[in-house]
Amino acid sequence: MDLPSLFILVLGAAVGSFLNVCIHRLPREESIVSPPSHCPGCGAPIRPSDNIPIASFLLLRGRCRSCGAPIRRRYIAVEAITAAAFLLLWRLHGGSPPMFVIAAAFSCGLIVVFFVDIEHQIIPDEISLGGIPFGLLASVAHPALQAADTRTAALLSSAAGAALGGGIFWLIRVAGGRIFRKEAMGLGDVKLMTALGALLGPSLVLFTTFSAAVIGSVVGLSLIAVGKADLGSRLPFGPFICAGAALAFFWGRACIGWYVGLLG
Ligand SMILES: [Zn+2]
Repeated sequence: MDLPSLFILVLGAAVGSFLNVCIHRLPREESIVSPPSHCPGCGAPIRPSDNIPIASFLLLRGRCRSCGAPIRRRYIAVEAITAAAFLLLWRLHGGSPPMFVIAAAFSCGLIVVFFVDIEHQIIPDEISLGGIPFGLLASVAHPALQAADTRTAALLSSAAGAALGGGIFWLIRVAGGRIFRKEAMGLGDVKLMTALGALLGPSLVLFTTFSAAVIGSVVGLSLIAVGKADLGSRLPFGPFICAGAALAFFWGRACIGWYVGLLG
Protein backbone atom coordinates (compact mmCIF):
# COMPACT_ATOMS: atom_id res chain seq x y z
CA MET A 1 0.00 0.00 0.00
CA ASP A 2 1.36 3.43 -0.94
CA LEU A 3 1.81 6.23 1.58
CA PRO A 4 -1.22 8.37 0.57
CA SER A 5 -3.51 5.33 0.80
CA LEU A 6 -2.14 4.52 4.24
CA PHE A 7 -2.76 8.13 5.31
CA ILE A 8 -6.37 7.95 4.02
CA LEU A 9 -6.90 4.68 5.90
CA VAL A 10 -5.68 6.20 9.18
CA LEU A 11 -7.72 9.35 8.52
CA GLY A 12 -10.81 7.20 7.90
CA ALA A 13 -10.31 5.33 11.20
CA ALA A 14 -9.89 8.64 13.08
CA VAL A 15 -13.03 10.09 11.47
CA GLY A 16 -14.82 6.82 12.32
CA SER A 17 -13.83 7.36 15.94
CA PHE A 18 -15.56 10.77 15.82
CA LEU A 19 -18.61 9.19 14.12
CA ASN A 20 -18.87 6.84 17.12
CA VAL A 21 -19.23 9.92 19.31
CA CYS A 22 -21.95 11.27 16.97
CA ILE A 23 -23.79 7.91 16.91
CA HIS A 24 -23.78 7.78 20.71
CA ARG A 25 -24.59 11.43 21.44
CA LEU A 26 -26.80 12.80 18.60
CA PRO A 27 -29.87 10.69 19.51
CA ARG A 28 -29.36 11.67 23.17
CA GLU A 29 -29.27 15.37 22.27
CA GLU A 30 -25.80 15.68 23.81
CA SER A 31 -23.01 17.93 22.53
CA ILE A 32 -20.63 16.13 20.20
CA VAL A 33 -17.62 18.23 21.28
CA SER A 34 -17.79 18.27 25.08
CA PRO A 35 -17.29 16.65 27.50
CA PRO A 36 -14.34 14.58 26.20
CA SER A 37 -14.86 10.84 25.67
CA HIS A 38 -15.59 8.84 28.78
CA CYS A 39 -16.54 5.25 29.55
CA PRO A 40 -20.35 4.93 29.51
CA GLY A 41 -19.97 2.30 32.26
CA CYS A 42 -17.91 4.02 34.97
CA GLY A 43 -17.59 7.56 33.59
CA ALA A 44 -13.78 7.47 33.63
CA PRO A 45 -12.28 9.80 31.02
CA ILE A 46 -10.57 7.92 28.21
CA ARG A 47 -6.84 8.68 27.99
CA PRO A 48 -5.58 9.85 24.61
CA SER A 49 -3.34 6.76 24.46
CA ASP A 50 -6.43 4.56 24.92
CA ASN A 51 -8.37 6.47 22.26
CA ILE A 52 -6.43 5.34 19.19
CA PRO A 53 -8.92 3.99 16.62
CA ILE A 54 -9.00 0.19 16.25
CA ALA A 55 -5.55 -0.30 17.90
CA SER A 56 -6.72 0.68 21.40
CA PHE A 57 -9.74 -1.60 21.17
CA LEU A 58 -7.46 -4.52 20.34
CA LEU A 59 -4.80 -3.62 22.96
CA LEU A 60 -7.43 -3.25 25.70
CA ARG A 61 -9.06 -6.50 24.47
CA GLY A 62 -12.34 -4.59 24.12
CA ARG A 63 -12.60 -3.61 27.81
CA CYS A 64 -12.51 -0.32 29.75
CA ARG A 65 -9.12 0.14 31.47
CA SER A 66 -10.79 1.45 34.66
CA CYS A 67 -13.80 -0.79 35.25
CA GLY A 68 -13.33 -3.63 32.77
CA ALA A 69 -16.78 -3.07 31.23
CA PRO A 70 -16.89 -4.43 27.70
CA ILE A 71 -16.57 -1.78 24.95
CA ARG A 72 -19.31 -2.25 22.39
CA ARG A 73 -18.13 -3.96 19.23
CA ARG A 74 -19.97 -1.28 17.28
CA TYR A 75 -17.06 1.09 18.04
CA ILE A 76 -14.45 -0.94 16.19
CA ALA A 77 -16.97 -1.80 13.44
CA VAL A 78 -17.71 1.89 12.72
CA GLU A 79 -13.98 2.73 12.67
CA ALA A 80 -13.20 -0.16 10.32
CA ILE A 81 -16.17 0.59 8.01
CA THR A 82 -15.27 4.30 7.81
CA ALA A 83 -11.61 3.50 7.10
CA ALA A 84 -12.62 1.02 4.37
CA ALA A 85 -15.10 3.51 2.85
CA PHE A 86 -12.45 6.27 2.76
CA LEU A 87 -9.94 3.94 1.09
CA LEU A 88 -12.49 2.82 -1.52
CA LEU A 89 -13.50 6.44 -2.22
CA TRP A 90 -9.84 7.41 -2.48
CA ARG A 91 -9.28 4.68 -5.08
CA LEU A 92 -12.34 5.89 -7.03
CA HIS A 93 -12.10 9.66 -6.61
CA GLY A 94 -8.52 10.32 -5.43
CA GLY A 95 -7.89 12.18 -8.69
CA SER A 96 -10.58 14.74 -7.84
CA PRO A 97 -10.14 16.19 -4.33
CA PRO A 98 -13.57 18.00 -4.29
CA MET A 99 -15.34 14.77 -5.29
CA PHE A 100 -13.41 12.80 -2.66
CA VAL A 101 -14.32 15.29 0.10
CA ILE A 102 -18.03 15.33 -0.88
CA ALA A 103 -18.15 11.53 -1.15
CA ALA A 104 -16.35 11.10 2.20
CA ALA A 105 -18.77 13.48 3.96
CA PHE A 106 -21.69 11.67 2.29
CA SER A 107 -20.45 8.28 3.50
CA CYS A 108 -20.03 9.64 7.06
CA GLY A 109 -23.67 10.79 7.06
CA LEU A 110 -24.87 7.38 5.85
CA ILE A 111 -22.82 5.53 8.49
CA VAL A 112 -24.22 7.69 11.33
CA VAL A 113 -27.85 7.36 10.13
CA PHE A 114 -27.44 3.60 9.63
CA PHE A 115 -26.33 2.91 13.20
CA VAL A 116 -28.50 5.51 14.97
CA ASP A 117 -31.68 4.38 13.19
CA ILE A 118 -31.04 0.67 13.93
CA GLU A 119 -30.65 1.40 17.64
CA HIS A 120 -33.04 4.30 18.27
CA GLN A 121 -35.47 4.26 15.30
CA ILE A 122 -34.77 7.94 14.67
CA ILE A 123 -32.78 9.80 12.05
CA PRO A 124 -30.95 12.84 13.47
CA ASP A 125 -32.13 16.12 11.91
CA GLU A 126 -28.50 17.28 11.98
CA ILE A 127 -27.82 14.77 9.19
CA SER A 128 -31.13 14.71 7.27
CA LEU A 129 -32.00 18.42 7.34
CA GLY A 130 -28.32 19.39 7.25
CA GLY A 131 -27.87 17.18 4.20
CA ILE A 132 -30.31 19.23 2.10
CA PRO A 133 -28.24 22.47 1.88
CA PHE A 134 -25.10 20.30 1.78
CA GLY A 135 -26.42 18.49 -1.30
CA LEU A 136 -27.45 21.70 -3.06
CA LEU A 137 -24.13 23.45 -2.31
CA ALA A 138 -22.01 20.42 -3.18
CA SER A 139 -23.82 20.16 -6.54
CA VAL A 140 -23.18 23.83 -7.37
CA ALA A 141 -19.56 23.60 -6.20
CA HIS A 142 -18.90 20.38 -8.12
CA PRO A 143 -21.41 19.90 -11.02
CA ALA A 144 -19.87 16.49 -11.88
CA LEU A 145 -21.69 15.19 -8.79
CA GLN A 146 -24.93 15.57 -10.79
CA ALA A 147 -23.23 14.51 -14.05
CA ALA A 148 -23.95 18.09 -15.19
CA ASP A 149 -21.82 20.47 -17.28
CA THR A 150 -22.87 23.77 -15.73
CA ARG A 151 -23.54 24.95 -12.18
CA THR A 152 -27.10 25.94 -13.12
CA ALA A 153 -27.86 22.49 -14.54
CA ALA A 154 -26.34 20.87 -11.44
CA LEU A 155 -28.45 23.05 -9.12
CA LEU A 156 -31.63 22.22 -11.06
CA SER A 157 -30.82 18.50 -10.97
CA SER A 158 -30.13 18.69 -7.23
CA ALA A 159 -33.40 20.56 -6.51
CA ALA A 160 -35.38 18.15 -8.71
CA GLY A 161 -33.81 15.19 -6.89
CA ALA A 162 -34.70 16.67 -3.49
CA ALA A 163 -38.31 17.30 -4.57
CA LEU A 164 -38.61 13.80 -6.06
CA GLY A 165 -36.98 11.91 -3.16
CA GLY A 166 -38.87 13.85 -0.49
CA GLY A 167 -42.09 13.80 -2.56
CA ILE A 168 -42.19 10.02 -3.07
CA PHE A 169 -41.63 9.31 0.60
CA TRP A 170 -44.10 11.99 1.65
CA LEU A 171 -46.73 10.32 -0.56
CA ILE A 172 -45.91 6.90 0.92
CA ARG A 173 -46.24 8.43 4.39
CA VAL A 174 -49.64 10.04 3.67
CA ALA A 175 -51.10 7.14 1.65
CA GLY A 176 -49.73 4.51 4.05
CA GLY A 177 -51.11 6.39 7.05
CA ARG A 178 -54.58 6.46 5.45
CA ILE A 179 -54.56 2.80 4.41
CA PHE A 180 -52.96 1.19 7.48
CA ARG A 181 -54.17 3.76 10.02
CA LYS A 182 -50.70 3.90 11.57
CA GLU A 183 -47.41 5.52 10.68
CA ALA A 184 -46.19 3.76 7.53
CA MET A 185 -43.14 5.95 6.94
CA GLY A 186 -41.40 8.18 9.48
CA LEU A 187 -40.93 11.89 8.90
CA GLY A 188 -37.20 11.26 9.41
CA ASP A 189 -37.20 9.01 6.32
CA VAL A 190 -38.90 11.77 4.29
CA LYS A 191 -36.26 14.32 5.35
CA LEU A 192 -33.43 11.86 4.67
CA MET A 193 -34.72 11.12 1.15
CA THR A 194 -34.96 14.87 0.46
CA ALA A 195 -31.29 15.25 1.39
CA LEU A 196 -30.28 12.20 -0.64
CA GLY A 197 -32.19 13.57 -3.63
CA ALA A 198 -30.29 16.86 -3.34
CA LEU A 199 -27.01 14.94 -3.38
CA LEU A 200 -27.78 12.27 -5.94
CA GLY A 201 -30.22 13.90 -8.39
CA PRO A 202 -33.51 12.49 -9.76
CA SER A 203 -32.38 9.27 -11.46
CA LEU A 204 -30.14 8.09 -8.62
CA VAL A 205 -32.74 8.95 -5.97
CA LEU A 206 -35.21 6.70 -7.83
CA PHE A 207 -32.50 4.04 -7.92
CA THR A 208 -32.04 4.51 -4.15
CA THR A 209 -35.79 4.12 -3.53
CA PHE A 210 -35.95 0.95 -5.61
CA SER A 211 -32.80 -0.56 -4.03
CA ALA A 212 -33.96 0.29 -0.48
CA ALA A 213 -37.33 -1.39 -1.12
CA VAL A 214 -35.65 -4.53 -2.52
CA ILE A 215 -33.05 -4.75 0.27
CA GLY A 216 -35.72 -4.04 2.91
CA SER A 217 -37.98 -6.80 1.53
CA VAL A 218 -35.15 -9.35 1.37
CA VAL A 219 -33.96 -8.56 4.92
CA GLY A 220 -37.53 -8.41 6.27
CA LEU A 221 -38.52 -11.76 4.71
CA SER A 222 -35.24 -13.33 5.89
CA LEU A 223 -35.92 -12.17 9.47
CA ILE A 224 -39.43 -13.63 9.26
CA ALA A 225 -38.00 -16.90 7.85
CA VAL A 226 -35.58 -17.30 10.78
CA GLY A 227 -38.29 -16.33 13.28
CA LYS A 228 -36.72 -13.01 14.36
CA ALA A 229 -39.68 -10.95 13.10
CA ASP A 230 -43.29 -11.32 11.94
CA LEU A 231 -45.46 -9.43 9.47
CA GLY A 232 -46.47 -6.93 12.16
CA SER A 233 -42.86 -6.12 13.13
CA ARG A 234 -41.67 -2.62 12.48
CA LEU A 235 -38.18 -2.38 11.03
CA PRO A 236 -36.50 1.02 10.80
CA PHE A 237 -36.32 1.89 7.09
CA GLY A 238 -33.35 4.29 7.37
CA PRO A 239 -30.66 1.58 7.26
CA PHE A 240 -32.14 0.24 3.99
CA ILE A 241 -32.24 3.75 2.54
CA CYS A 242 -28.55 4.15 3.49
CA ALA A 243 -27.64 0.85 1.86
CA GLY A 244 -29.62 1.80 -1.27
CA ALA A 245 -27.98 5.24 -1.40
CA ALA A 246 -24.50 3.70 -1.13
CA LEU A 247 -25.35 1.31 -3.99
CA ALA A 248 -26.72 4.24 -6.02
CA PHE A 249 -23.63 6.34 -5.38
CA PHE A 250 -21.13 3.63 -6.32
CA TRP A 251 -22.91 1.69 -9.05
CA GLY A 252 -26.15 3.54 -9.84
CA ARG A 253 -25.05 5.28 -13.04
CA ALA A 254 -23.39 2.10 -14.33
CA CYS A 255 -26.57 0.08 -13.63
CA ILE A 256 -28.86 2.68 -15.23
CA GLY A 257 -26.54 2.86 -18.28
CA TRP A 258 -26.59 -0.93 -18.58
CA TYR A 259 -30.40 -1.03 -18.31
CA VAL A 260 -30.91 1.77 -20.85
CA GLY A 261 -28.49 -0.07 -23.18
CA LEU A 262 -30.55 -3.23 -22.75
CA LEU A 263 -33.74 -1.38 -23.77
CA GLY A 264 -32.34 0.27 -26.82
ZN1 LIG B 1 -15.28 2.06 32.59
